[in-house]
Amino acid sequence: MVLAQLGGSISRAIQQMSNATIIDEKVLNECLNEITRALLQADVQFKLVREMQTNIKKIVNLDDLAAGHNKRRIIQQAIFNELCKILDPGKPSFTPKKGKPSVIMFVGLQGSGKTTTCTKYAYYHQKKGWKPALVCADTFRAGAFDQLKQNATKAKIPFYGSYTESDPVRIAVEGVETFKKENCDLIIVDTSGRHKQEAALFEEMRQVSEATKPDLVIFVMDSSIGQAAFDQAQAFKQSVSVGAVIVTKMDGHAKGGGALSAVAATKSPVIFIGTGEHMDEFEVFDVKPFVSRLLGMGDWSGFMDKIHEVVPMDQQPELLQKLSEGNFTLRIMYEQFQNILKMGPIGQVFSMLPGFSSELMPKGREKESQAKIKRYMTMMDSMTNEGKQLLFISNPKLMNDSRIMRIARGSGRQVREVMEMLEEYKRLAKIWSKMKGLKIPKKGEMSALSRNMNA
Ligand code: GDP
Repeated sequence: MVLAQLGGSISRAIQQMSNATIIDEKVLNECLNEITRALLQADVQFKLVREMQTNIKKIVNLDDLAAGHNKRRIIQQAIFNELCKILDPGKPSFTPKKGKPSVIMFVGLQGSGKTTTCTKYAYYHQKKGWKPALVCADTFRAGAFDQLKQNATKAKIPFYGSYTESDPVRIAVEGVETFKKENCDLIIVDTSGRHKQEAALFEEMRQVSEATKPDLVIFVMDSSIGQAAFDQAQAFKQSVSVGAVIVTKMDGHAKGGGALSAVAATKSPVIFIGTGEHMDEFEVFDVKPFVSRLLGMGDWSGFMDKIHEVVPMDQQPELLQKLSEGNFTLRIMYEQFQNILKMGPIGQVFSMLPGFSSELMPKGREKESQAKIKRYMTMMDSMTNEGKQLLFISNPKLMNDSRIMRIARGSGRQVREVMEMLEEYKRLAKIWSKMKGLKIPKKGEMSALSRNMNA
């Protein structure tokens, strides 16, 4: 079961429970059984699921709940908290500091996506003003150095490796020293993987770790490995002190739940997820927004972060102000389209903004999406300013037939197409109207705000 399906099943179970006239033991059990089934199908470890079920039952004691308590809310909150607990080990991972050299060692099985992830991690930080560097200490897999070199060159990230040296410890140490001298602040060491867990791999990992003294060891795990995830993660944790996890291939038809059990096995947080083969298909992982999204509650944290990243600084306060007033106007939609087209690659940029991803910009159909957005913009160009300011949700009648015909004529488009654009606007406005009442963040308060919105 892919994670989206898992989310759907859990939300349905909660919804069904909410539909019941009286919530008693039987209704609660049915709901929990449904959720248990969904989690097991997604390969979350059995022990964790059972624990979760027991905990919820302990928290939600229906007999003890005084009359008047909102039982549904309490149960919903308990499910949310327990899911967060599975994913949150309770302590943050080491956070590197910009300007101060940190050594980050990547470990994982061959094929897990380790080398790709090293570059994604470097690239992500480089975009944020860091000075990352890559060291290829994988001397086991033929072609590993070439792969890293190729990725690093593409992203203009300095790299270190050797075609002739076969001692991974030596390369790792030399690479780290070289980049420390060059004042790199994020020195990423890619280590060997193996097809399966074996003593030689763990010994090599241990030696590289001892010699380079990494500030953080990141365990990279393929999301499709299912129930094996827990044991695999634990085996790595026993050999080196894993401090964080990155789960890759979350875009595929994988059973992500298994890999998420890795958190419990390593007692380390998932810090990023890989969502594609490209360098920028990489997302920060935050537990609460992730669970919110899983339960269909919307990912407002990702939304805020993307606004921060995508919308030009000088436009941010105005946009947030308008959204907080519940004013998602056509002009705002127009401006966000402009931002999308400017930033590229389309589909990536706004993929986390509610409504902009799956329906407006389906993956793999970027060209069509781009053309569609341009078409919508031409139509909006032919509207008067007053038209653009119309609030469709509160004032749908204002966009009357004659206005629609004028827009179609002015832009040389069919009435049907204008209607389609307006439908799109209505859909987005409905989603974005949830931002109404938003507290406008001051500079630097963005993540705190996101946390509040998800709390
Ligand atoms: P390594 O052996 O662990 O270093 O794995 P690689 O980095 O060579 O990756 C193995 C394959 O997985 C490559 O084809 C990558 O392009 C692919 N890959 C890595 N991360 C992701 C991801 O997040 N999504 C998808 N779809 N593919 C990925």
